[in-house]
Amino acid sequence: MARYTGPVCRLCRRERMKLYLKGAKCDTMKCPVEKRPYPPGQHGRGRIRESEYLLQLREKQKARRIYGVLEKQFRNLYDEANRQDGITGENLLRMLELRLDNIAYRAGWGSSRSQGRQLVRHGHVSVNGKRVTIPSYQVRKGDVVELRDKARQMIVIRHNLDTIDRLMPPWLEKRDDGLGVTIRDLPLREHIDVPVRESLIVELYSK
Ligand code: SF4
Repeated sequence: MARYTGPVCRLCRRERMKLYLKGAKCDTMKCPVEKRPYPPGQHGRGRIRESEYLLQLREKQKARRIYGVLEKQFRNLYDEANRQDGITGENLLRMLELRLDNIAYRAGWGSSRSQGRQLVRHGHVSVNGKRVTIPSYQVRKGDVVELRDKARQMIVIRHNLDTIDRLMPPWLEKRDDGLGVTIRDLPLREHIDVPVRESLIVELYSK
């Protein structure tokens, strides 16, 4: 599946907030949002006419960018969320959280979701003992996600495990050695800490 390969800090600046797409750099003063907290481009500091549509569009773009999902796949996820029982916006966020690359990020193996995605693509992650290389793979309640043997010795992963102090959401249970997590439950909205107003995304797509 394709992915965005352009400059990512521009995406944060467009949303006028930190989306934490770059790992360690995001918490330093090198973060461009700290230095230039306005949208990129020649007219970045110009006046923007606020509209309902613009608000909805920005929330959708923000969610897509945080989870690294392109438009078509995001739209498909929305359609799937809409078919499920319950609140569509919450279903959508839950499905995004249950992506395997997001689990690798939440577990602290990747410093960013894109690094989590790379670990999955390179075959370093297994689900219930089987190697899975699809970043969008949806994990289920009870699944055990682990780092594979070779990955456990990788310097980048050892470094991330030693330095990243990320709060583990209550729906994930991390093993003591940090090399595996169990999906204890499906995530509830209050346990998903992304700054997205999902109701605006639903309004946008249901026009
Ligand atoms: Fe966004 Fe991180 Fe770049 Fe800052 S450093 S603009 S938070 S990706």
